[in-house]
Amino acid sequence: MDPQTISRYPFRGESQEWIREQGVSLGVVLTSAAYVRVVEAGKDRVMEAMTEEGVLDKTALDEVEALIAVLSYPIARMLVSSVGDLLLIRRHALREAKAAYEHMVREDASFLLELAREELNVPAAIEEGGEEAVFRLHFTDYLKNASSIRAKKWKLHNQDLREGFVRLEKRQFARLLQEALRRRIESELPLEVSEEILERLSDEIDQVVGGVEKLRESLQKESYGEFSLDYIPPCMMDLLKKMQEGVNVPHVGRFALTAFLSHVGLDVDDIIGLFRVSSDFKESIASYQVRHILGDISGTRYSPPSCSTMQTYGICLREKRCEHAGSPRRYYFQQLRRAERQSGRSAPPPETEKEADAEAEADAESDEGGGPDT
Ligand code: SF4
Repeated sequence: MDPQTISRYPFRGESQEWIREQGVSLGVVLTSAAYVRVVEAGKDRVMEAMTEEGVLDKTALDEVEALIAVLSYPIARMLVSSVGDLLLIRRHALREAKAAYEHMVREDASFLLELAREELNVPAAIEEGGEEAVFRLHFTDYLKNASSIRAKKWKLHNQDLREGFVRLEKRQFARLLQEALRRRIESELPLEVSEEILERLSDEIDQVVGGVEKLRESLQKESYGEFSLDYIPPCMMDLLKKMQEGVNVPHVGRFALTAFLSHVGLDVDDIIGLFRVSSDFKESIASYQVRHILGDISGTRYSPPSCSTMQTYGICLREKRCEHAGSPRRYYFQQLRRAERQSGRSAPPPETEKEADAEAEADAESDEGGGPDT
């Protein structure tokens, strides 16, 4: 293999074999000052996963660069494993897989077939006859990897499926391999890391931990975004209107609304500001109650109720558009993410796979004429 190919696919057995042939071991890399650049490159690899910038091309031009690129891959894995954070593992796996995809789409068909079979456990063949390469794989191998891709065009019923085999163009096949690689990397991490490695990499680990903390903070801010009444569920809108119109709202309603508003990103002053328009508003009472629910007084921050609890309280409006939401808070974020996807802005990801599936379903229903009335 040439330095370019070796550096583009450091996860390949052949790339790691090439490193062994060069007589370099990870033990030497970690203990010798001559390999400082490799450790630095490994850390950069991890830090890159925490940015929103495009994937950097690490293609090497010569053997020295190839050595650094390939060795930086296991160093990055050690750093990710040392921190052991699930968010970091996922971001790292996705970043490495995306980087590989950028190269895979330019490879010829036979290279992709070998990579798929040898490294990613995706057996496939080329369909004979056509001008452009068409990859043929069993639908079970397709589903294993495509089921985690959310776009509707990847659903099995939207594929060219004949006699149990799916046909894919090269770009689609490379995208599927990206997913297979992401899954592989995620499943391999975290690795066990020895005390010696933890000690040797302690400075780099501290930097990665700092990066993860910053990333979490920014994701949290991003996921709240600007509060908007456009995404608020009907039950909360009803309670808010009643509060603002001075209509008597039972204690459970005031509690549910306040807890909900605090969990979609509003602070004490924002919430009191919303309630202040009521004609019988009493600042001191409202302030005490809001601060109590937000945990400023009691030390316990209350969670907003689920839809089933809201039903028990008798304050769920039972509207079709939110019957699968599970909770008013979840409904709010589903609507927010949906609006962001439709406007082309980057939407913060759902917190769980279940939530992602529910959103994809809701989008599909809406496309077919059902879904939210908004
Ligand atoms: S189903 Fe849930 S979100 Fe919808 S009105 Fe009832 S409690 Fe609110």
